[in-house]
Formats: sequence, C-alpha cells, structure tokens
Amino acid sequence: MNLNELLYDSYGKTISECSNEEIYAVLLKKVNELAAEKAAPDSKKKIYYISAEFLIGKLLSNNLINLGLYEDVKTQLAENGRNIRDIEEIENEPSLGNGGLGRLAACFLDSIATLGINGDGIGLNYHFGLFRQIFKDNAQTAAPDRWINENCWINKTDRIYPVKFGNAVVAARLYEINVTGYDSVTNKLRLFDVEGVNENLVTSDIDFDKTAITQNLTLFLYPDDSDEDGRLLRIYQQYFMVSAGAQLILDECTAKGCNLHNLYDYAVIQINDTHPTMIIPELIRLLIQRGIDIDEAIEIVSRTCAYTNHTILAEALEKWSISQLKTVVPQLVPIIEILDDKIRRKYDEPKVHIIDKDDRVHMAHIDIHYGFSVNGVAWLHTEILKNEELNHFYEIYPEKFNNKTNGITFRRWIMHCNPELSAFITELIGDDWKKNAGELKKLLDFKGNKDVLKKLLDIKKNKKIQLKNYLSAKQGIEIDENSIYDIQIKRLHEYKRQQLNALYVIHKYLEIKSGIKPTTPVTVIFGAKAAPAYIIAQDIIHLILCLQELIAADDDVKPYLNVIMVENYNVTLAEKLIPACDISEQISLTSKEASGTGNMKFMLNGAVTLGTEDGANVEIHQLVGDENIYIFGDDSETVVERYKTESYVPKDYYTKNKAIKAAVDFIIGEDMMKLGDKVRLERLFKELTGKDWFMTFPDFDDYVKTREAAYSDYENSVEWAEKMLVNIAQAGYFSSDRTIAQYNEDIWKI
Ligand SMILES: *Cc1c(COP(=O)(O)O)cnc(C)c1O
Repeated sequence: MNLNELLYDSYGKTISECSNEEIYAVLLKKVNELAAEKAAPDSKKKIYYISAEFLIGKLLSNNLINLGLYEDVKTQLAENGRNIRDIEEIENEPSLGNGGLGRLAACFLDSIATLGINGDGIGLNYHFGLFRQIFKDNAQTAAPDRWINENCWINKTDRIYPVKFGNAVVAARLYEINVTGYDSVTNKLRLFDVEGVNENLVTSDIDFDKTAITQNLTLFLYPDDSDEDGRLLRIYQQYFMVSAGAQLILDECTAKGCNLHNLYDYAVIQINDTHPTMIIPELIRLLIQRGIDIDEAIEIVSRTCAYTNHTILAEALEKWSISQLKTVVPQLVPIIEILDDKIRRKYDEPKVHIIDKDDRVHMAHIDIHYGFSVNGVAWLHTEILKNEELNHFYEIYPEKFNNKTNGITFRRWIMHCNPELSAFITELIGDDWKKNAGELKKLLDFKGNKDVLKKLLDIKKNKKIQLKNYLSAKQGIEIDENSIYDIQIKRLHEYKRQQLNALYVIHKYLEIKSGIKPTTPVTVIFGAKAAPAYIIAQDIIHLILCLQELIAADDDVKPYLNVIMVENYNVTLAEKLIPACDISEQISLTSKEASGTGNMKFMLNGAVTLGTEDGANVEIHQLVGDENIYIFGDDSETVVERYKTESYVPKDYYTKNKAIKAAVDFIIGEDMMKLGDKVRLERLFKELTGKDWFMTFPDFDDYVKTREAAYSDYENSVEWAEKMLVNIAQAGYFSSDRTIAQYNEDIWKI
C-alpha cells in the first residue's frame, strides 16, 4: 500500500501535510476494502456466534496486523515524521460490550477467522453502548458514549427484517463489520439496528424514555433494569436480536440449499450466555411457520444450538416472568409452555423445569434442555456446574456437558499492545508462536540466561514508562516508573473483591504511617466501571478515589505507596496497562469467577499473578507451578460449604482480628469522613461488617502475607525475571486459537 498516493488521491496532500484525522480516514477506507477482498471461507456449515456483547476494541491496528500491513504502514508514517500511535488515537473505541464476556466474543471472532473457519458474530449495534465513566467529587458518573461517526468500521447493508412485538412491529437493519483473521480469511460481525432509532431520546446523562421501544432498542447496552420498564426493554432488545438473527440464519442456509429439515448440517448457533436464549423458541416458531411440525422443529433446533454458561452467580441467571414475556413476545409464550410441558412429563424435579412455580421462565434451562452442548469456561467452573449448580441437569445429560477454557487473541494482547516483547520473543524462538502459541514453551530454554532476563526487565521498564507518560498526558495522573505496578482492572463487582484490595491499601497506609516502609515503592492501580444501579459497587469506587486523594496529599506515605484509579477503563486502556504490569491482581472469592481472561492477558505480558485458586487461575497455577504465582485464600470446597451452612459471621473476624478492625474502621474514620461522603462510607462499612457476602475477611490475613511475599521476591530482579519468563512461556495454552480449535473439534465440527 502506498500511503502517500492514497492521501494524494483523496486530499491532494502528502503524509506530512495531512492531519491525523485525514490519514485515519484514508487508512480505514483502504483497509476495509482489502479486508473485504479476503473472501469468507465457503463451507456448507457455518458457526453463528450470537452474543449481546462484542467488546472489539479499536480496529485499525488490529486489522493492519491481521492483513500483514502494520509494519509497512508504520514505516511509511515514520519516514514522514508521523507516529502510528497518534493515528490510532483518532479512532473511537466501539462501545459494544461490558466486560470479559464481550471481550471473549471479540477474541473468538478473531480466532475463528484466523483458523479459517466459516463463522460470523451476531449482535446489536448499540449507539451509546455501555456508558462512559467520568469521575466527579470522588464518585463515578455515567455519560453516553457516542462512538459511531462517519469514519467507523460499520458497513450498512440493504438487508432488513421485520421484528414483531406484542404492541409494535419494527424493522431491523443489518450492519456489518469485517472481521479479519491473522494471515487468513475475513468473516463478519453482523449487527442489527432498529430503523428509526432516535438518539435524541437521551435527555440527560444516560436517561431516556424506556417505553419508546420503536426508537430506543439499540441506544444502550444493558439499560438500567432496576425498574420494570428497564427490564421489559431488555427483553425487547433480546428478542430484537434473536428474531432478526434467526431470520438471517434461515435465509443464509436456504440460499445454500438447506431444506430446513437439515438445518443442523448448515448452521451451528453458539449461544453466549442467556441473553440470546430466545433464539431457541424463535427458531422453532419460524420453522413451524414454514411448514414443519412442532416436534420436528424442536428436534432440529435442539441439534443446532449450543450454550455457553458464564456464571454461577444466582442473581446473574436470567429469569423472565410469563407476564413480561406476554407483553413483549406473546407469540413465544405458547412455545415456551410446550417446551416446559415436555420436560414436566419426563422429570418431576422442579429444579429442572423451565417455568417455575412463580411463573418465571429460567432462560438457562431452555438452553440446557433444548441445546446439544453446555459448556463452562474454565476447568473449575465446569466442575462446579456439573457437581453443584447444574448437577440435576448433569445427571440427565452428562454427554452434553463439556469444558472450554477461555482464551485471548495474541494478535491484540501481545503483538499489538506489546510489540517490543513480541519482537524479542521472535528474536529468541522465531515467528511461529504467532500462529502456534504452544511454541512459546521454547522460551523455557532461556531460564538461566542472564542477558535474556535482563532484556525482559528492560522491556517491562520501557512499558512502565510508556504507561506513565500516557496517564500523565491523558488523565493528569503522575506515577513513578521505579515503583511496583500492582494492577487490578476489571468490572467492579463485589465477588471480584476490589474491596479486599482496598482494605490492603488501608492496611499498608497505616503500616507506613507507623514507620514500617516498603523497600520498593508500590503503585496500586485500579480500573473499573460499576453498573449505575449497583450501589455498593459505587461505594467501593468512592472509597478507592478517596484513598487516592488522601495518599496523594500525604507526604509521609506518598513516596512509598500510591493508589490511582484510571477513568473509563476499556480495551484501549487495557492495552496500555497490561504490558506495564508487575503484579496482576486476580483475587475473586474462590468458586465465583467463571474464568477470567484479564489474568491471561497479564500472564502473557510477563506479569506475575497474585490470586485465589479460582477460574482459570487454577490452570495458570498448574502451568507455571508454585514458584511463579502467588496463591492465597480458602479453597472452593470451604467456600461452597460456608455458603451452604451459612456459618460465616463477619463480625467474628472484625472483633478478633486487629488488622481487619483497623482497616475497616478506617473507612468511617476521621480522615475518610473529611474527604468522602458519609452515607456512602457508612453503608460500605455496614456492608462489610454486617454481611461481607464475598468473604473478604477470612482471606484477609493470607492475602496480606502473600502480597508481602510477592513484594519481597520482587527485590531479587533476576529471580523475578525468571518468573516473568515462565509466565510468558506457559501462556500459549491461553491463546483463543486453542479454545476455538476445541470448540470446533468438540461442538461445531466445521
Ligand atoms: C479482558 C477484559 C475484561 C475482562 O477482565 P477480567 O479480569 O477477566 O474480568 C474486562 N474489560 C476489558 C476492557 C478487558 O479487556
């Protein structure tokens, strides 16, 4: 590609004369054309990955890398005094996802295309997506994140499907984003948008008329569902997605010669969590409409759909009431009742019924009975599903249950975000690891090599300086590159236990105040958005921001300990933070984190995990061994047992453990009260001492001890670099190419 020529054709100017915006616009157009030329693979059967979220991140550099153009473009820019990182800044990050589940879907699309598998994503084209987080007065506020403009990767199509609700019919227009594989084919992300969507409905912040469904369906991802209008809107959105998606799938299959009786030979639908579950009754309905009798329709759909479970948190398993469904999608209710009736005839156990005694429809139960595969997303998670949460189902269908440990795409999570480390790895073991991640194990040969270890430390230092400069320029935050970067970035949720990390910070603060000072200073970095209606999560953000302010103003503590919370944590920020990290905080209450994928990104970039034996941390631990990870906390049996027997009383720990008491009391002490909001801090104090549902106190001592051990080991830089090396070398297992190869081998069979 000759960039000067392209720019001259468009603007009559050279690279050095063009603005970053102009260069970005021309690259986008050209890359989009080149991507489209790489034809999608043409197989009879196709995988449709349907998901409410695709947290794809910025696409320019990702696509350049996958098309093999990145180095060339970067060089042409550099020769003309321009930096590709400045061009990247122009792109808005698409706000189409929320957290790990959406990011997983994006990594999967990358790997499906990279492996040359015929497969598309199906989702919604949210105009404001998830909110943009802004901190004000030490609290989170939410603003709409308008990301769509004339220079983005969405291509409009002529395809429109009608979607019928109880009280309205709307038109769903298909938009598409090219999904490039690495040195491979191009697939698509197919996003439906409601015709007549009205951005002006958004009044202030993120408020809007939730009842104006013909205009609001694709405004926001996960609109506030703390009221009934919000809950109904979610059902409208879900049905809008699955109905349009089902029509698209049937059209594509019939165009290829499918007679619908053999739909499963043409399509496999992977249902990502329960948001798209209604595609099962919807497909059954559409098949009946096209002349197939109901029993056969159920059989066909059951052989086409597969379900991925992402959580065991009871409150996150979706249940919609029959009356809600009657309002939104009355046409599905008789079908769901038949699906339930068939189960009731076979099984007395109410726990496996689809409609419960309170007339609520358990969406996951539809997937399990009427899909052919049920998978968890890490070994421990799948074991808990089989033996605890979904045990009644496992006894009926042992053959349906399987594990697919999550993965991440190495194109984004090392090649793009850490070109320095990528180049060094290639220097040591050649280029094959980019397509065959298992090759990273060859790095183990360099374990005793002082030069290699030193280079790893140099690269890390360089990434720490880059982060420092970025945060200083973008968020006005100053950090010390000679400190340990100890990072916890993920959605804010009590089970992920940012509050435990915050309690450690307070503990450390008090220790420094009493004269015990760390050898190397520590920078504790948080990044997290909290759902606007999730009060305690907001309170935890408030606590962290108050701690940040307190310490920044304290000359006794500041040289040794700093806390910062980055604003609006998203994929773009993750790509800056992760390569710079020394210690990766993965401290969820054991049994609660299904997998985690942040943990994998950190490991791949040479951070050492400090974590519980939870989610994929279990597999990381197995791969790197005790020496190269810091594990603490109660095991999953203990935790599960404690919930069952309801034997946990936080007050017992609070009264007996001086360190816990001191840290927790500090939340409502004089210093905090001066800075913070009394209501918030007192509510959080009460929550911890009265409930502590995610059991931070029982793990506190072990957490402190283990974290101190990690800091102490950090002092020996050669040994630390060895730990980094082993983590990088063993990260190959967590390539999403491996995960997708397993999905294809065991489930999709394309
Ligand atoms: C990877 C990623 C996540 C998931 O992080 P976990 O630590 O696994 O919860 C969430 N948000 C963003 C932006 C990510 O890149």
